[in-house]
Amino acid sequence: MKQNITSLIKDILEACKRTYDRGYVASNDGNISARIDSKSVLITPTGMSKGFLKASDLIIVDMDGKLIKGSKKPSSETFMHLQIYKSRPDVNSVCHSHPPYATGFAVAGIPLNKMVLPEVIIALGTVPLVKYGTTGTDELYGSIAEYIKDFDAFLLANHGALTVGNSVINAYHKMETLEHAAKIQFIAKQLGQVKTLNKKQTDQLINLRQKFGVRLDLGLKKTKLSNGGK
Ligand SMILES: [Zn+2]
Repeated sequence: MKQNITSLIKDILEACKRTYDRGYVASNDGNISARIDSKSVLITPTGMSKGFLKASDLIIVDMDGKLIKGSKKPSSETFMHLQIYKSRPDVNSVCHSHPPYATGFAVAGIPLNKMVLPEVIIALGTVPLVKYGTTGTDELYGSIAEYIKDFDAFLLANHGALTVGNSVINAYHKMETLEHAAKIQFIAKQLGQVKTLNKKQTDQLINLRQKFGVRLDLGLKKTKLSNGGK
């Protein structure tokens, strides 16, 4: 289905502004995209701050990354975005940024694989730590490929975070949920301990997913820890 481009542009600019205003990126970091239809994707440009983007700065590329419309150069992570759309037909938006708490866990090599907070369990399940891959190369997607079918939020080792969703706002909200979860776990750890919910409590939350239209098996697959995670 073809999405309304004007409303996609509005949503991307809003998500970019919130990403920048909340300190999820520094300088020109981060990128956000949205699927327009089966053949094209709207994406942020490379080398521009997400806090000050205008509608005319956004770019349309085809599924091979070839420029369809726009005067700027597309994000250096365009390949990663396109690969995600190819492997997840249900995904209509991809958000990538470097929020400090989530990225802190990604740098420490610690995945968010504990069942701690109800909203996070419902919306994301667990968040795997994806092996390091050089920015702007196929390597980065290569590490995500292993997890993309089963998760909507990812920690990218020594780099940042990535979320996907069925709309721009949905993908962006998952980034907020991820960062908030990481911040709370960090604080709980400073206070002495991170207590987890038990299996019965977790199952009850997973059952609530039906009410919110969240896939029942999302973020529940057991993951291998990478990059020295513990
Ligand atoms: Zn990045």
